[in-house]
Amino acid sequence: MTGRHHLFIPGPTNVPDRLLRAMHRAQEDHRSATFPALTRSILGRLPAIVGSTAATPFVFPASGSAMWEAALVNTLNPGARLLAVRFGQFSHLFIQTARNLGYHVDVIEVPWGEGASPELIEAALREDTERNIEGVLLVHNETATGVTSDVAAVRAAMDREDHPALLFVDGVSSIASLAFAMDAWRVDCAITGSQKGFMLPAGLGILYCSPRVMQRLDSVTTPRAYFDLRPMRANNEQGFFPSTPALSLLWGLDEALTMLLDEGMEQVVARHARLAEGVRRAVHAWGLSLCATRKEWYSNTVSAVVVPEGADARAVIQVAFDRWNLALGSGLTQLAGKVFRIGHMGDVNELMLAGALTGVELALQDSGVAVTPGSGVAAASSWWRETTPRQLT
Ligand SMILES: *Cc1c(COP(=O)(O)O)cnc(C)c1O
Repeated sequence: MTGRHHLFIPGPTNVPDRLLRAMHRAQEDHRSATFPALTRSILGRLPAIVGSTAATPFVFPASGSAMWEAALVNTLNPGARLLAVRFGQFSHLFIQTARNLGYHVDVIEVPWGEGASPELIEAALREDTERNIEGVLLVHNETATGVTSDVAAVRAAMDREDHPALLFVDGVSSIASLAFAMDAWRVDCAITGSQKGFMLPAGLGILYCSPRVMQRLDSVTTPRAYFDLRPMRANNEQGFFPSTPALSLLWGLDEALTMLLDEGMEQVVARHARLAEGVRRAVHAWGLSLCATRKEWYSNTVSAVVVPEGADARAVIQVAFDRWNLALGSGLTQLAGKVFRIGHMGDVNELMLAGALTGVELALQDSGVAVTPGSGVAAASSWWRETTPRQLT
Protein backbone atom coordinates (compact mmCIF):
# COMPACT_ATOMS: atom_id res chain seq x y z
CA MET A 1 0.00 0.00 0.00
CA THR A 2 1.21 3.50 -0.74
CA GLY A 3 1.28 6.34 1.76
CA ARG A 4 1.66 6.20 5.49
CA HIS A 5 0.21 3.54 7.69
CA HIS A 6 -2.12 5.05 10.31
CA LEU A 7 -1.29 3.66 13.73
CA PHE A 8 -4.08 4.50 16.15
CA ILE A 9 -3.85 1.77 18.72
CA PRO A 10 -3.31 2.75 22.35
CA GLY A 11 0.33 1.70 22.31
CA PRO A 12 2.75 1.39 20.73
CA THR A 13 2.11 4.94 19.57
CA ASN A 14 3.59 6.99 16.74
CA VAL A 15 7.30 7.57 17.15
CA PRO A 16 8.11 11.14 16.05
CA ASP A 17 10.86 11.46 13.43
CA ARG A 18 12.89 13.43 15.94
CA LEU A 19 12.98 10.42 18.26
CA LEU A 20 13.75 8.03 15.41
CA ARG A 21 16.75 10.18 14.55
CA ALA A 22 17.87 10.34 18.18
CA MET A 23 17.93 6.54 18.33
CA HIS A 24 19.55 5.97 14.95
CA ARG A 25 23.14 5.83 16.15
CA ALA A 26 25.94 3.34 16.45
CA GLN A 27 26.12 1.62 19.83
CA GLU A 28 28.54 2.90 22.44
CA ASP A 29 30.43 1.67 25.46
CA HIS A 30 27.98 1.83 28.35
CA ARG A 31 30.87 1.69 30.84
CA SER A 32 32.75 4.65 29.39
CA ALA A 33 33.61 7.75 31.40
CA THR A 34 31.21 9.85 29.33
CA PHE A 35 28.20 7.54 29.75
CA PRO A 36 26.99 8.82 33.15
CA ALA A 37 25.97 12.14 31.56
CA LEU A 38 23.18 10.33 29.70
CA THR A 39 22.03 8.39 32.78
CA ARG A 40 21.92 11.57 34.84
CA SER A 41 20.11 13.54 32.16
CA ILE A 42 17.39 10.88 32.02
CA LEU A 43 17.05 10.03 35.71
CA GLY A 44 17.26 13.69 36.68
CA ARG A 45 14.41 14.70 34.40
CA LEU A 46 12.05 11.72 34.66
CA PRO A 47 10.43 12.80 37.96
CA ALA A 48 9.13 16.05 36.42
CA ILE A 49 6.96 13.99 34.07
CA VAL A 50 4.97 12.61 37.03
CA GLY A 51 4.87 15.85 39.00
CA SER A 52 7.49 14.72 41.47
CA THR A 53 10.64 16.09 43.00
CA ALA A 54 10.95 13.29 45.55
CA ALA A 55 10.60 10.10 43.48
CA THR A 56 13.49 7.87 42.45
CA PRO A 57 13.03 6.64 38.87
CA PHE A 58 14.27 3.30 37.54
CA VAL A 59 14.60 2.28 33.91
CA PHE A 60 14.84 -1.38 32.85
CA PRO A 61 15.08 -3.07 29.48
CA ALA A 62 11.57 -4.51 29.86
CA SER A 63 7.99 -3.43 29.29
CA GLY A 64 5.29 -1.91 31.44
CA SER A 65 4.01 -5.26 32.73
CA ALA A 66 7.46 -6.06 34.06
CA MET A 67 7.26 -3.00 36.29
CA TRP A 68 4.18 -4.47 38.01
CA GLU A 69 6.47 -7.27 39.12
CA ALA A 70 9.39 -4.97 39.96
CA ALA A 71 7.16 -2.75 42.10
CA LEU A 72 5.67 -5.65 44.04
CA VAL A 73 8.73 -7.78 44.76
CA ASN A 74 10.79 -4.83 45.96
CA THR A 75 8.23 -3.49 48.40
CA LEU A 76 6.23 -6.42 49.82
CA ASN A 77 7.23 -9.45 51.82
CA PRO A 78 6.10 -12.93 50.69
CA GLY A 79 2.36 -13.53 51.07
CA ALA A 80 1.48 -9.89 51.68
CA ARG A 81 -2.17 -8.94 51.37
CA LEU A 82 -3.28 -6.37 48.79
CA LEU A 83 -6.46 -4.64 47.71
CA ALA A 84 -7.22 -4.04 44.03
CA VAL A 85 -10.03 -2.84 41.81
CA ARG A 86 -10.77 -4.81 38.62
CA PHE A 87 -12.53 -2.95 35.81
CA GLY A 88 -10.74 -4.04 32.65
CA GLN A 89 -8.07 -6.27 31.18
CA PHE A 90 -5.08 -4.32 32.51
CA SER A 91 -6.33 -4.15 36.08
CA HIS A 92 -7.04 -7.88 35.72
CA LEU A 93 -3.48 -8.60 34.59
CA PHE A 94 -1.99 -6.47 37.38
CA ILE A 95 -3.97 -8.57 39.88
CA GLN A 96 -2.90 -11.80 38.17
CA THR A 97 0.74 -10.74 38.34
CA ALA A 98 0.44 -10.13 42.08
CA ARG A 99 -1.28 -13.49 42.59
CA ASN A 100 1.28 -15.33 40.49
CA LEU A 101 3.95 -13.88 42.75
CA GLY A 102 2.17 -15.37 45.76
CA TYR A 103 0.52 -12.24 47.08
CA HIS A 104 -3.03 -12.38 48.40
CA VAL A 105 -5.26 -9.92 46.56
CA ASP A 106 -8.72 -8.85 47.73
CA VAL A 107 -10.52 -7.76 44.56
CA ILE A 108 -13.26 -5.15 44.29
CA GLU A 109 -15.15 -5.98 41.08
CA VAL A 110 -16.41 -2.97 39.17
CA PRO A 111 -18.33 -3.22 35.86
CA TRP A 112 -16.06 -2.65 32.86
CA GLY A 113 -16.68 0.91 31.72
CA GLU A 114 -16.68 2.33 35.24
CA GLY A 115 -13.81 3.73 37.26
CA ALA A 116 -12.40 2.85 40.65
CA SER A 117 -14.86 3.67 43.39
CA PRO A 118 -13.17 5.51 46.27
CA GLU A 119 -16.16 4.62 48.46
CA LEU A 120 -15.71 0.88 47.94
CA ILE A 121 -11.98 1.18 48.55
CA GLU A 122 -12.62 3.13 51.71
CA ALA A 123 -15.14 0.54 52.91
CA ALA A 124 -12.68 -2.30 52.29
CA LEU A 125 -9.94 -0.47 54.15
CA ARG A 126 -12.28 0.26 57.06
CA GLU A 127 -13.05 -3.44 57.38
CA ASP A 128 -9.34 -4.13 57.59
CA THR A 129 -9.27 -3.29 61.29
CA GLU A 130 -5.97 -5.06 61.86
CA ARG A 131 -4.33 -3.16 59.02
CA ASN A 132 -3.24 -6.30 57.20
CA ILE A 133 -3.62 -4.81 53.74
CA GLU A 134 -0.17 -3.64 52.71
CA GLY A 135 -0.89 -2.19 49.31
CA VAL A 136 -3.64 -0.82 47.08
CA LEU A 137 -3.30 -1.57 43.34
CA LEU A 138 -4.88 0.93 40.98
CA VAL A 139 -4.78 1.28 37.20
CA HIS A 140 -5.00 5.01 36.60
CA ASN A 141 -6.10 4.76 32.98
CA GLU A 142 -7.73 1.43 32.09
CA THR A 143 -6.66 1.13 28.47
CA ALA A 144 -9.14 -1.68 27.76
CA THR A 145 -12.19 0.47 28.48
CA GLY A 146 -10.92 4.03 28.04
CA VAL A 147 -11.61 4.86 31.68
CA THR A 148 -9.52 7.21 33.80
CA SER A 149 -9.92 6.88 37.55
CA ASP A 150 -9.45 9.61 40.11
CA VAL A 151 -6.21 8.77 41.92
CA ALA A 152 -6.50 11.80 44.22
CA ALA A 153 -9.90 10.55 45.38
CA VAL A 154 -8.48 7.09 46.09
CA ARG A 155 -5.65 8.65 48.07
CA ALA A 156 -8.18 10.75 49.99
CA ALA A 157 -10.18 7.59 50.80
CA MET A 158 -7.03 5.92 52.14
CA ASP A 159 -6.27 9.01 54.21
CA ARG A 160 -9.79 9.14 55.66
CA GLU A 161 -9.18 5.66 56.99
CA ASP A 162 -5.67 6.67 58.01
CA HIS A 163 -4.62 3.42 56.35
CA PRO A 164 -0.87 2.81 55.98
CA ALA A 165 -1.06 0.69 52.79
CA LEU A 166 1.29 1.54 49.95
CA LEU A 167 -0.36 2.99 46.84
CA PHE A 168 0.69 1.31 43.56
CA VAL A 169 -0.48 3.11 40.43
CA ASP A 170 -0.24 1.66 36.94
CA GLY A 171 0.24 4.75 34.81
CA VAL A 172 1.28 2.95 31.63
CA SER A 173 -1.30 4.73 29.47
CA SER A 174 -1.53 7.92 31.54
CA ILE A 175 2.00 9.00 32.44
CA ALA A 176 3.37 11.61 30.02
CA SER A 177 -0.14 12.23 28.64
CA LEU A 178 -2.58 12.81 31.52
CA ALA A 179 -2.18 14.88 34.67
CA PHE A 180 -0.18 12.86 37.14
CA ALA A 181 0.80 14.22 40.57
CA MET A 182 2.91 11.55 42.21
CA ASP A 183 3.98 13.68 45.18
CA ALA A 184 0.59 15.32 45.80
CA TRP A 185 -1.21 11.98 45.55
CA ARG A 186 1.53 10.29 47.58
CA VAL A 187 1.83 7.45 45.11
CA ASP A 188 4.40 4.93 46.31
CA CYS A 189 5.09 3.15 43.04
CA ALA A 190 4.17 4.58 39.65
CA ILE A 191 4.54 2.21 36.72
CA THR A 192 4.94 2.88 33.02
CA GLY A 193 6.68 1.87 29.80
CA SER A 194 8.27 3.56 26.83
CA GLN A 195 5.73 2.91 24.06
CA LYS A 196 2.77 5.05 25.08
CA GLY A 197 3.03 8.64 26.31
CA PHE A 198 6.80 8.63 25.85
CA MET A 199 6.29 8.06 22.10
CA LEU A 200 9.08 5.47 21.85
CA PRO A 201 9.18 1.85 20.74
CA ALA A 202 8.39 -0.71 23.43
CA GLY A 203 11.38 -1.95 25.38
CA LEU A 204 11.75 0.15 28.52
CA GLY A 205 9.96 -0.37 31.79
CA ILE A 206 9.93 2.76 33.93
CA LEU A 207 9.23 2.62 37.65
CA TYR A 208 9.06 5.55 40.03
CA CYS A 209 9.47 4.91 43.76
CA SER A 210 8.54 7.20 46.63
CA PRO A 211 11.03 7.92 49.44
CA ARG A 212 8.97 5.59 51.63
CA VAL A 213 9.53 2.75 49.18
CA MET A 214 13.24 3.51 48.88
CA GLN A 215 13.57 3.13 52.65
CA ARG A 216 11.96 -0.31 52.55
CA LEU A 217 14.11 -1.84 49.83
CA ASP A 218 16.65 -3.35 52.17
CA SER A 219 14.20 -4.86 54.63
CA VAL A 220 11.96 -6.65 52.10
CA THR A 221 12.71 -10.39 51.98
CA THR A 222 10.96 -11.41 48.76
CA PRO A 223 13.44 -13.13 46.43
CA ARG A 224 14.28 -10.96 43.42
CA ALA A 225 17.05 -10.99 40.90
CA TYR A 226 16.83 -9.07 37.62
CA PHE A 227 14.28 -6.65 39.06
CA ASP A 228 16.15 -6.08 42.31
CA LEU A 229 16.22 -2.30 42.69
CA ARG A 230 19.23 -2.34 45.02
CA PRO A 231 21.98 -3.02 42.46
CA MET A 232 20.13 -0.72 40.08
CA ARG A 233 20.17 2.04 42.67
CA ALA A 234 23.86 1.49 43.44
CA ASN A 235 24.85 1.56 39.76
CA ASN A 236 22.57 4.46 38.88
CA GLU A 237 24.15 6.54 41.61
CA GLN A 238 27.43 6.26 39.70
CA GLY A 239 25.69 6.94 36.38
CA PHE A 240 25.68 3.30 35.23
CA PHE A 241 23.45 0.23 35.01
CA PRO A 242 24.06 -3.25 36.44
CA SER A 243 23.53 -4.93 33.06
CA THR A 244 23.54 -3.66 29.49
CA PRO A 245 21.00 -0.85 29.15
CA ALA A 246 18.82 -0.52 26.04
CA LEU A 247 21.06 2.22 24.67
CA SER A 248 19.04 3.23 21.63
CA LEU A 249 15.92 3.55 23.71
CA LEU A 250 17.80 5.59 26.30
CA TRP A 251 18.88 8.07 23.63
CA GLY A 252 15.27 8.18 22.53
CA LEU A 253 14.04 8.65 26.09
CA ASP A 254 16.48 11.50 26.68
CA GLU A 255 15.15 13.27 23.59
CA ALA A 256 11.52 12.47 24.49
CA LEU A 257 12.08 14.12 27.87
CA THR A 258 13.37 17.23 26.09
CA MET A 259 10.31 17.28 23.84
CA LEU A 260 7.84 16.80 26.70
CA LEU A 261 9.49 19.24 29.10
CA ASP A 262 10.01 21.89 26.40
CA GLU A 263 6.30 21.70 25.61
CA GLY A 264 5.55 21.67 29.35
CA MET A 265 3.54 18.97 31.09
CA GLU A 266 0.52 21.25 31.54
CA GLN A 267 0.42 21.85 27.82
CA VAL A 268 0.95 18.15 27.08
CA VAL A 269 -2.04 17.34 29.27
CA ALA A 270 -4.16 20.12 27.73
CA ARG A 271 -3.25 18.98 24.21
CA HIS A 272 -4.36 15.43 24.95
CA ALA A 273 -7.62 16.69 26.47
CA ARG A 274 -8.42 18.88 23.48
CA LEU A 275 -7.64 16.25 20.86
CA ALA A 276 -9.55 13.57 22.78
CA GLU A 277 -12.65 15.74 23.04
CA GLY A 278 -12.68 16.00 19.24
CA VAL A 279 -12.64 12.21 18.99
CA ARG A 280 -15.50 11.90 21.48
CA ARG A 281 -17.55 14.44 19.53
CA ALA A 282 -17.00 12.34 16.43
CA VAL A 283 -18.16 9.20 18.24
CA HIS A 284 -21.33 10.92 19.42
CA ALA A 285 -21.97 12.38 15.94
CA TRP A 286 -21.90 8.83 14.59
CA GLY A 287 -24.62 7.97 17.11
CA LEU A 288 -22.28 5.61 18.93
CA SER A 289 -21.35 5.56 22.58
CA LEU A 290 -18.21 5.07 24.60
CA CYS A 291 -17.51 2.13 26.84
CA ALA A 292 -16.79 4.63 29.64
CA THR A 293 -20.20 5.18 31.18
CA ARG A 294 -19.67 8.62 32.70
CA LYS A 295 -18.00 11.80 31.47
CA GLU A 296 -15.78 12.04 34.53
CA TRP A 297 -14.17 8.75 33.47
CA TYR A 298 -13.55 9.61 29.81
CA SER A 299 -9.94 8.94 28.98
CA ASN A 300 -7.93 11.52 27.09
CA THR A 301 -5.52 8.88 25.76
CA VAL A 302 -7.85 6.18 24.44
CA SER A 303 -11.52 5.95 23.46
CA ALA A 304 -13.21 2.55 23.48
CA VAL A 305 -16.16 2.84 21.09
CA VAL A 306 -19.12 0.48 21.47
CA VAL A 307 -20.54 -0.81 18.17
CA PRO A 308 -24.33 -1.14 17.80
CA GLU A 309 -26.09 -4.38 18.70
CA GLY A 310 -25.64 -6.87 15.86
CA ALA A 311 -22.40 -5.34 14.56
CA ASP A 312 -19.01 -6.93 15.17
CA ALA A 313 -16.21 -4.57 16.19
CA ARG A 314 -13.70 -7.16 14.96
CA ALA A 315 -15.02 -6.68 11.43
CA VAL A 316 -14.60 -2.92 11.72
CA ILE A 317 -11.00 -3.36 12.88
CA GLN A 318 -10.28 -5.87 10.14
CA VAL A 319 -11.58 -3.76 7.29
CA ALA A 320 -9.92 -0.63 8.68
CA PHE A 321 -6.61 -2.48 8.57
CA ASP A 322 -6.99 -4.35 5.29
CA ARG A 323 -8.67 -1.72 3.21
CA TRP A 324 -7.79 1.64 4.76
CA ASN A 325 -4.33 1.05 6.22
CA LEU A 326 -5.55 2.06 9.67
CA ALA A 327 -4.75 0.13 12.85
CA LEU A 328 -7.39 0.40 15.59
CA GLY A 329 -7.26 -1.28 19.00
CA SER A 330 -9.37 -4.36 19.57
CA GLY A 331 -11.80 -5.18 22.35
CA LEU A 332 -10.03 -7.28 24.97
CA THR A 333 -11.54 -10.46 26.49
CA GLN A 334 -15.12 -9.65 27.57
CA LEU A 335 -15.17 -6.65 25.23
CA ALA A 336 -14.02 -8.60 22.14
CA GLY A 337 -16.32 -7.80 19.22
CA LYS A 338 -18.13 -5.16 21.25
CA VAL A 339 -15.68 -2.29 21.09
CA PHE A 340 -12.89 -0.95 18.98
CA ARG A 341 -10.42 1.47 20.46
CA ILE A 342 -8.93 4.64 19.05
CA GLY A 343 -5.63 5.60 20.61
CA HIS A 344 -5.03 9.36 20.78
CA MET A 345 -1.90 9.36 22.85
CA GLY A 346 1.53 10.80 22.24
CA ASP A 347 2.63 12.28 18.95
CA VAL A 348 -0.66 13.02 17.20
CA ASN A 349 -2.29 16.19 15.92
CA GLU A 350 -5.63 17.31 14.54
CA LEU A 351 -5.09 16.22 10.95
CA MET A 352 -3.63 12.84 11.86
CA LEU A 353 -6.70 12.22 14.00
CA ALA A 354 -9.00 13.53 11.27
CA GLY A 355 -7.45 10.92 9.00
CA ALA A 356 -8.07 8.21 11.58
CA LEU A 357 -11.67 9.36 12.08
CA THR A 358 -12.22 9.28 8.32
CA GLY A 359 -10.87 5.73 8.31
CA VAL A 360 -13.23 4.77 11.12
CA GLU A 361 -16.17 6.23 9.21
CA LEU A 362 -15.22 4.25 6.12
CA ALA A 363 -14.72 1.04 8.08
CA LEU A 364 -18.01 1.45 9.94
CA GLN A 365 -19.88 1.85 6.64
CA ASP A 366 -18.00 -1.12 5.17
CA SER A 367 -19.17 -3.18 8.15
CA GLY A 368 -22.81 -2.22 7.77
CA VAL A 369 -22.95 0.35 10.58
CA ALA A 370 -24.99 3.29 9.32
CA VAL A 371 -23.09 6.52 9.85
CA THR A 372 -23.39 9.75 7.92
CA PRO A 373 -20.17 10.12 5.93
CA GLY A 374 -18.18 13.07 7.26
CA SER A 375 -20.33 13.54 10.36
CA GLY A 376 -17.67 12.52 12.85
CA VAL A 377 -14.91 14.43 11.13
CA ALA A 378 -17.16 17.52 10.99
CA ALA A 379 -17.92 17.35 14.70
CA ALA A 380 -14.26 16.86 15.61
CA SER A 381 -12.95 19.54 13.30
CA SER A 382 -15.53 22.07 14.50
CA TRP A 383 -14.38 21.49 18.05
CA TRP A 384 -10.73 21.79 17.11
CA ARG A 385 -11.43 25.05 15.25
CA GLU A 386 -13.38 26.49 18.17
CA THR A 387 -10.69 25.75 20.69
CA THR A 388 -7.20 27.16 20.90
CA PRO A 389 -4.97 25.42 18.43
CA ARG A 390 -1.43 24.58 19.20
CA GLN A 391 0.66 27.75 19.19
CA LEU A 392 2.41 28.41 15.92
CA THR A 393 6.14 28.39 16.57
C1 LIG B 1 -0.03 -1.16 27.81
C2 LIG B 1 -0.41 -1.30 29.24
C3 LIG B 1 0.22 -2.20 30.09
C4 LIG B 1 1.20 -3.20 29.61
O1 LIG B 1 2.37 -2.63 29.26
P1 LIG B 1 3.39 -3.48 28.35
O2 LIG B 1 4.42 -2.45 28.07
O3 LIG B 1 2.62 -3.94 27.18
O4 LIG B 1 3.89 -4.59 29.19
C5 LIG B 1 -0.12 -2.20 31.43
N1 LIG B 1 -1.06 -1.38 31.90
C6 LIG B 1 -1.72 -0.51 31.12
C7 LIG B 1 -2.75 0.36 31.72
C8 LIG B 1 -1.42 -0.45 29.75
O5 LIG B 1 -2.07 0.41 28.97
